Amino acid sequence: MTPHDQNAVQPPRPRAGAAGTADEPPKARPNVVFILTDDHAAHAISAYSGRVNSTPNLDRIAAQGARLDSLYCTNSICTPSRATILSGTYSHVNGAATIYSGFDYRVRTFPQVLQDCGYRTALFGKWHLGHEAHNDPQGFDEWRIYRGQGEYNDPVMYGVDAAGERVDDVVPGYATDTVTDLALDWLHRAQGEDPDAPFCLLLHHKAPHRNWIPHPRHADLYPLGSIHEPDTLFADHSTMSRAVRDVRMSVADDLTENDLKQPLPPELAGEENREARARRNYQLYMRDYLQTIQAIDDSTGRVLADLEAHGLSENTIVIYTSDQGFFLGDHGWFDKRLMFDQSLQMPMMVRWPVAIPAGTVIDELATNVDLAATVLDACGADPTETLPDQQGRSLLPLLDGTADDEALADWPDAMYYRYWEHEDPSHNAPAHYGIRTSTHKLIHYYGDGMGAPGSSDALREAEWEMYDLVTDPAELTNIADDPAYATVRADLEQRLGQLQAQVGDRPYEGPETPRPTWG
Ligand code: CA
Repeated sequence: MTPHDQNAVQPPRPRAGAAGTADEPPKARPNVVFILTDDHAAHAISAYSGRVNSTPNLDRIAAQGARLDSLYCTNSICTPSRATILSGTYSHVNGAATIYSGFDYRVRTFPQVLQDCGYRTALFGKWHLGHEAHNDPQGFDEWRIYRGQGEYNDPVMYGVDAAGERVDDVVPGYATDTVTDLALDWLHRAQGEDPDAPFCLLLHHKAPHRNWIPHPRHADLYPLGSIHEPDTLFADHSTMSRAVRDVRMSVADDLTENDLKQPLPPELAGEENREARARRNYQLYMRDYLQTIQAIDDSTGRVLADLEAHGLSENTIVIYTSDQGFFLGDHGWFDKRLMFDQSLQMPMMVRWPVAIPAGTVIDELATNVDLAATVLDACGADPTETLPDQQGRSLLPLLDGTADDEALADWPDAMYYRYWEHEDPSHNAPAHYGIRTSTHKLIHYYGDGMGAPGSSDALREAEWEMYDLVTDPAELTNIADDPAYATVRADLEQRLGQLQAQVGDRPYEGPETPRPTWG
């Protein structure tokens, strides 16, 4: 099933049914609480890095379970990562390659499998996978989602209620809090109706997505001037590709008055004041970003306390992750899209006390393609049988410590990345694909599309970047054309081609190269 040959409509997949898990006593199957946030970088969680904020409730998940340190998204932008997480497939397979893509009912997802296996299922919060009827979430007993990006305050939420009726109303209050209310209310009702049926609850926050509107209760946190600046806020981009030098994600120049909620003081305008302007903008956007994260931390604390109060903590898998990372002033940027680590890395922490040893730290390389298989495997549904199109590898053996030396030696040591979207002039990010290993990164900006008006070149050219992650973990010096690395680059280029073919994607061969679409 790939949109490269999508002319024929695929027949519906057979339902897995209860037979797939008939041997599993229902009581033994774990519950799942899947918390997905939007643009929450790992380095804005204190369990990962204590430099910019404190997130005690999120940290509890890592302390009482596992923290994944090398989890990467395969396309660093909201809609595609969500489609990948749900389906376990790359963007070129599930067809949701850009933020302009809608999801398609023909793409089967892990909640559908769990529902077919007898799980109670629900989704509350951000969907962002299209809002036509054929984009509706599938596989949920109840669901209620924001329209588009949703609003931080008094968002409209539509969906299907317990009676199967369509609902479409304003939900008054602060979105991070009210979506938690909806999720916990459903959980209590589901438990009341059938305490023996396992549940899978997807709690998808809007926060901490731009434009970062905090709740007033957090207004005193992270005051201006107090937030640690990254070492690379003023990094030199001179060795990078022109495509990257032209992106419009600069903290100094591209944050808007809408982002910062106040006009730029005239004395900070102009090239000569760029450094002072970057410092001021950094503090303003990071203050709001971190405050919105504090409400997520509050919400997560509520969820953990609720599970505890109902005796559900031990056999409930609590997963916290985000659709991609985010530049927190790193390289002088905000936003994501590019393959640099702060954008590429996803945070992920998993608590499941009966199976995952407390304090587990996982360094093995994994991607968002692996998450559907992991959840299904943990719930006793064989991913290869129940979700046959999925392309991931279950991370369960890493989480529960059952991966033996042979499995660890055989673990993948490279991941494939492709960012398809290059038609958004407000960010001017180029399409690219690349490979990341534990030691190197090779990126090909293959020159699709036009540069934004006013950029240094109207027609993009193909360019390469390469970084030595051992000697240059901050990815400051592009060594793609360094003769000393010629052998390494040749090897990486070959491996990139192999990985691309292995996952069913193809190289860019000019503007006529087909792009993923469901038509
Ligand atoms: Ca996002």
